[in-house]
Amino acid sequence: MHVVVLGAGYAGVTLTRKLEASLPAAATLTLVDENETHLVQHEVHRVIRRPSITDAIEVPLESLFDRAEIVTARVEDVDTDTNRVVLDSGETLDYDYCGLCLGAETAFYDLPGIEDHGVPLKSISDAEVVRQQALAAIDSGDDARFVVSGAGLSGVQVAGELATLAEEEGAADRIEIVVLEQLGSVAPAFPAGFQEAVEAELSSRGIEIRTETAVVEATESTIETRHEESGERRSIDYDLFVWTGGIGGSAAMAGDRPIVRSDLRLTDSTFALGDAARIVDADGEAVPASASAAIRSARVAAENITTLVGWELSDGDGFEPRLAQFRFDVPGWIVSVGDGAVAQVGPKVVTGKAANALKASVGAGYLSSVRAIRQATELVGEELNA
Ligand SMILES: Cc1cc2nc3c(=O)[nH]c(=O)nc-3n(C[C@H](O)[C@H](O)[C@H](O)COP(=O)(O)OP(=O)(O)OC[C@H]3O[C@@H](n4cnc5c(N)ncnc54)[C@H](O)[C@@H]3O)c2cc1C
Repeated sequence: MHVVVLGAGYAGVTLTRKLEASLPAAATLTLVDENETHLVQHEVHRVIRRPSITDAIEVPLESLFDRAEIVTARVEDVDTDTNRVVLDSGETLDYDYCGLCLGAETAFYDLPGIEDHGVPLKSISDAEVVRQQALAAIDSGDDARFVVSGAGLSGVQVAGELATLAEEEGAADRIEIVVLEQLGSVAPAFPAGFQEAVEAELSSRGIEIRTETAVVEATESTIETRHEESGERRSIDYDLFVWTGGIGGSAAMAGDRPIVRSDLRLTDSTFALGDAARIVDADGEAVPASASAAIRSARVAAENITTLVGWELSDGDGFEPRLAQFRFDVPGWIVSVGDGAVAQVGPKVVTGKAANALKASVGAGYLSSVRAIRQATELVGEELNA
């Protein structure tokens, strides 16, 4: 019996670690990722201001697992009818059960000029490009405008880092930062109290927010926008353009993020979770693409794969066992905004030092939970010295 996990982000690492503990010895386990490290993606924006944090947010996969075979390769195709994975090496992997955890890629929606001119923010190298372009504009001594398009978790945090970078470089009075969001509010997928607190944190740093503003086109110096209600079109010049306007599926899934229900089952033997899927949970709610959802969905996928493997190994007699259902229930949300942070804990929204401490402890708690103790300690140091 062969279980394969594709992708070693939050979903894939959590799933593999759970399966290592729960799968019977007769099952073999393989984890595939194109990188040799696990990236703590929800901290990537920090690299814009503090490149030294890279050491704390890249964890060698070798150090995380005891039992799984780790394969470093790019997944080119997943055939969920034949249970076969094609790797870029030309090799194939056949599986009995698969956890599809390939995450998402930045979507540019074929809008003219966006992919050519907008810098995405998904990787450390993306963050380094943003840093270099921001510092070049700051060091020129001229006035400059940085535009961040998309005010989800990544856009909000990128804008906060850019504002604080300008301040640290003594250029806050010359650097204008504008956030463009197509929907009616910043952090549009999150609770209203959280949205208001995030907006207040951004505004207090002089960041201009334009909601209901869709980007329609970009050239090397100008972004064309359309107001969602009035249809009014405007142009905005920029010196740095960061695009965090949306996500699509992995190329290995032909750009698709398939919908899965609360058992996370895509087919009888393939489970899709984390950002790789659009999950509708046991309450019928669409689950927001987030590290929290990736980790929590992995716990349910591990339980279901283990149940099915155990059932098949015992000859699969009788009815298929009942599978666990994923209900997305988080205690709250936290984002950083430069040196500040906003945390929603239950109905309460917290900012300032308490939110900063919470942010550091959540990141470090996650790293400790996957055995990355050195990185956890370094992250706390980086976050609390911010
Ligand atoms: C700047 C930023 C800030 C964020 N802040 C927050 C936050 O504060 N809170 C929060 O909850 N979420 C946050 N998020 C979102 C969060 O990071 C994602 O939702 C989360 O990473 C999804 O986890 P995942 O395991 O599904 O995918 P990922 O973490 O993206 O992992 C996917 C893995 O698959 C691998 N992979 C992809 N394609 C292939 C392929 N073809 N072959 C082989 N390997 C492949 C990748 O190398 C990667 O290791 C933020 C995201 C960004 C970019």
